[in-house]
Amino acid sequence: MFLGTGNFSSRLSAARNRHYDISTGQSLGPYSHAKSKYLTNMKIESVETELYHVPLARPVVDAIHGVQKDFSLIVVKITTDDGASGMGYTYSVGQVGGSSIATLIKDNLAPILIGEDPRRIEYLWDKMWWALHYVGRSGIAVFGLSAVDTALWDLKARLAGEPLWRFLGGHDNKVEAYGGGIDFDMTIPQLLEQTQGFLDAGIQAIKIKIGRDSIAQECERIAAVRQLLGPEKKLMVDVNMKWSVEQALRAVRAFEKYDIYWIEEPTIPDDIEGNRRIEMEGPIPVATGENLHSIYEFKQMIAQGGVSFPDADISNLGGITALMKVAHIAEAYNRNLTTHGIQEMHVSCLAAIPNASLLEIHAFRVDDFLLHQLEIKDGYAYASDRPGHGVEIDWEKIAKHRVSVG
Ligand SMILES: [Mg+2]
Repeated sequence: MFLGTGNFSSRLSAARNRHYDISTGQSLGPYSHAKSKYLTNMKIESVETELYHVPLARPVVDAIHGVQKDFSLIVVKITTDDGASGMGYTYSVGQVGGSSIATLIKDNLAPILIGEDPRRIEYLWDKMWWALHYVGRSGIAVFGLSAVDTALWDLKARLAGEPLWRFLGGHDNKVEAYGGGIDFDMTIPQLLEQTQGFLDAGIQAIKIKIGRDSIAQECERIAAVRQLLGPEKKLMVDVNMKWSVEQALRAVRAFEKYDIYWIEEPTIPDDIEGNRRIEMEGPIPVATGENLHSIYEFKQMIAQGGVSFPDADISNLGGITALMKVAHIAEAYNRNLTTHGIQEMHVSCLAAIPNASLLEIHAFRVDDFLLHQLEIKDGYAYASDRPGHGVEIDWEKIAKHRVSVG
């Protein structure tokens, strides 16, 4: 959007001389002052944290989490002494953990960040990781770190005048997308209606939730969706960790005839050997990772052969810094990376790397509160070309869901 009609050098200098206000999405105009600071000195002046309880348009159900009606969105805004800013967020299911994550950022991470140079992301990440380590390494601590890290990358890419997908590596701005229904409770006609809705929206690969004890029932649901999709389109299934290894192995043998692209979280992520057995002894590749919360957990799962499609999430893994490291580990093991949820952010991460698998278009969506919708066409999602991750919240619209943090 910032490329004008002039020659290359004038277009480039125009791009370099702009940055954007996070709240309004408006250009703040030339930043020659900021540009000089870019080469010398810059300090984080404020770290603002806000918590929202966002209702879902329709309550959703999976095999393990039950009915979900809303989610907690924890937003972080980082501003420097010269007015540059970046925004990141994380989320939790329902209202569990939301206020704790927001409080952790406010009480424990903001004081570490104030006065520091926001462009030294590895330094800041390391500092935050070790400050949290004794109570952390996973869970709420890493969720807080994740939101902050995403805000730092947004800020840094904005300073460079670059869209995040290109700033991180710039492999290909389009990423194959799939519709991730949270549809465990749906009847088969409802499941088919949802699938048709995805197809009508330009999404050509589909994932459905499974995890019942009756494999025959699951076969009936999968067969119906496969018939609607035809033989060529990708179809995935997601167990949400519900099954034992033996149940999963029986199931994947029964599913083989439906040409399933992957089976997601067939069992608990803590059982690496179990995941490896499902991979090796069954005919369907395993995707897992939305419940792995560090680069080390991913490294174990990948290196020990427990996963074909590592499934990363910047909101619970340690942000963009950690996701890019997992992407590179996966690449070294000849694995393609997929992502879990927050598609509006993850599209830029997958677009950056050479080993991108599919982008999940998840049912937990903040779309209603965003100024720009993710562009999806002919099976592909397109990364934003706005500076930073390009995700801008409609602050006025989301304000009514704001919850105060103690
Ligand atoms: Mg999943």
